[in-house]
Amino acid sequence: MAGGAVRRTRFAPSPTGLLHLGHAYAALVAEREASPGQFLLRIEDIDRDRCRAEYEAAIHEDLAWLGLHWQRPVMRQSDRLTAYRDALRRLAPLTYPCRCRRGDIRAALSAPQEGALPAGPDGLVYPGTCRTRSLADAGPDDVIRLDVGRAFDALGIDRIAFRDEAIMPSHDHVLTRDQFLDGIGDVILSRRGMGTSYHLAVVVDDAAQGITVVTRGKDLFDSTYIHVLLQKLLQLPTPLYHHHRLIRDATGKRLAKRDDARALRHYGEDGATPQDVCRMLSL
Ligand code: GLU
Repeated sequence: MAGGAVRRTRFAPSPTGLLHLGHAYAALVAEREASPGQFLLRIEDIDRDRCRAEYEAAIHEDLAWLGLHWQRPVMRQSDRLTAYRDALRRLAPLTYPCRCRRGDIRAALSAPQEGALPAGPDGLVYPGTCRTRSLADAGPDDVIRLDVGRAFDALGIDRIAFRDEAIMPSHDHVLTRDQFLDGIGDVILSRRGMGTSYHLAVVVDDAAQGITVVTRGKDLFDSTYIHVLLQKLLQLPTPLYHHHRLIRDATGKRLAKRDDARALRHYGEDGATPQDVCRMLSL
């Protein structure tokens, strides 16, 4: 670790369901990787339709049951809308409003293409239909997208790179401008009715919380290229990354919040101890 600086990690769940073993693993890894530094909690509740107060309360209870200790106060994204609006305003010259729905995007991509449509971390790669529209005629139902080609040009760079201390730690992970355009495309910075998106909020908040090591599941590995691009545009530091393995069920399927039967608290109710949970997770 550079210069012996204090490591700060975070666990950033969305209160859209009960935590399961995969969350327990992510939280335990985040705390372990902070040690002896600081471990923070951030409630990612920008999706007001899906987030519930009772799930947020359950997060606190379940993490405490696991024996985790986190710094206070806890950051909640629903309290941070002004910070996201400011960031969006700074990026405004590189953004445009988009009214395309999933069906429009599929139709536009299908026209020149046969077979599998290009997809990235957020689903289909946006074909740029609305790219020439101006923010001045943004409608209330529009999302705001980043013009990624212009973003690279504005920065004068042709690739994005980051380090992951868990995956090939002595090499940069690199994505070129063309790979970004073909494989990710113009990402959404503000979703309908939210004033931000996961990508924008996570970048603004990791910087605001002074996170030095972002620990999270490998499913978010490709999103990291988006985050590093946004960090550069907003002149925020790029932390070190640590993408860990995903916890799967006996059939190899990744655990999801909707598999309520596997909720962490049910293990406790059935008599398991936090130590048993750690053993199940090979921690
Ligand atoms: N809120 C995200 C999730 O629950 C985690 C985001 C992150 O760690 O960057 O999957």
